[in-house]
Amino acid sequence: MNESPWQPYLPYNALLCRYDEIGTKGKNRHAFEKRLWSELRRRLAPMGEFSLITERGRIFLLPKDEKAHFSEEDLLCLRHEVPLISGLASLSPGFVLQPELAAIESCVMTHFPALHAAFRRHHGEAPCTYAMRCRRSDKGFPMSSQEIEIYFAGKLCQQFPDMTIDLRQAKLQVGLEIRQNLAFVFFERIAGAGGLPSGISGNVLALLSGGFDSPVACYQMMRRGCQVNYITFHSSPYTPPATLTKVADIARRLNSMQNPGKLLAVNLLPAQKAIRDLCSSRFRTVLYRRMMMRIASQVAYKLGDRALVSGDNLGQVASQTLENLAVIEEAGTMMLLRPLICADKWQIMKTAEKIGTWELSSQDVPDSCTVFAPPDPATKTHLPKIKQEEKALDLELLLQQCLQSTCFIDPQDYSETPAEFV
Ligand code: ATP
Ligand code: MG
Repeated sequence: MNESPWQPYLPYNALLCRYDEIGTKGKNRHAFEKRLWSELRRRLAPMGEFSLITERGRIFLLPKDEKAHFSEEDLLCLRHEVPLISGLASLSPGFVLQPELAAIESCVMTHFPALHAAFRRHHGEAPCTYAMRCRRSDKGFPMSSQEIEIYFAGKLCQQFPDMTIDLRQAKLQVGLEIRQNLAFVFFERIAGAGGLPSGISGNVLALLSGGFDSPVACYQMMRRGCQVNYITFHSSPYTPPATLTKVADIARRLNSMQNPGKLLAVNLLPAQKAIRDLCSSRFRTVLYRRMMMRIASQVAYKLGDRALVSGDNLGQVASQTLENLAVIEEAGTMMLLRPLICADKWQIMKTAEKIGTWELSSQDVPDSCTVFAPPDPATKTHLPKIKQEEKALDLELLLQQCLQSTCFIDPQDYSETPAEFV
């Protein structure tokens, strides 16, 4: 379908939303559609209110108020929001019409010249190829899909002699859907995020640091239909307030892609001090992480979350070995999901840019894990040795001390509210 950047502004009067995988769900279809519909309404709120028509595998959105068509700002909003809406395969702005040839012809012949002119402006003398794709679910319509495609190819190629037909990779494409009660003409297809609508798979608690990986891990879970809450660890006063405000900024950005999740902050310092004083320095990082797993598991139970999520990536840093990952995970009492375990760094960075967290993560702010960080961290730890080290710690007491500091942070204004979890 035609690419967005050179598309002309056209006074579209409807949107056609194509489901992604939810098109394949049987009995749950209604719940899936409802979730996607409410997410579309929330994300496209700047465009006004919509009424909707659902048909198998499709949602048509029509402006509800007096507005006869969408404005240029509305289309900018669409191009900005749609690529990040999970559960959506693609969306096309277009024209809803009576399912009659005269109405379809008038629409195509009125608007196609603007499309052709925009193509010439943008691509100069490049070969101009054309195709129409017609889907006719109303078999009562007097012409077959192929007859309609041939009919319009004849009309348009006569009017624009510089155009040739290319059914495989046409530069100018016209889409036409003919249903029982309506026809829909479109020229553009904006890709959605795919996956499942956010919230349909249940809640998870993500361990969110200020790095690049964990925000991308959150996004991957949203794409699988999860509502994501966040927990972050700091070491105040050894880490500055910016450690928390940076994570809050990231959570705010992530929340714009889902029904907003909660952000909790926990001070890990009591545990870190005890680990510094009572355990071998080489194991500090792994021992900190095991403490994070214990705390996060408890918090997840209280919030009713079903799993923990981290941004771990095998081999990304020397300490992210299978041995260390296994030892860290063992301390938690809740399932740990690692959506980025096999991802390449460039893929993670590309997604971070797409979801708008790259710039936030690239700010240089100290992280809790670097507090008292040893010069020679162990890259391959073994559980019996780590358990031996932990014998020096009063784990239950440290857990309670850390949990006492737990507070909710409002990502909008950074205000803190104590969470009574102990
Ligand atoms: P990221 O992985 O987000 O880029 P990072 O590289 O600083 O951050 P790692 O050292 O790779 O973090 O840690 C692996 C994972 O552990 C993170 O992806 C995150 O899920 C979790 N984690 C690390 N530090 C923190 C923290 N201070 N608060 C919450 N979670 C953390
Ligand atoms: Mg990392």
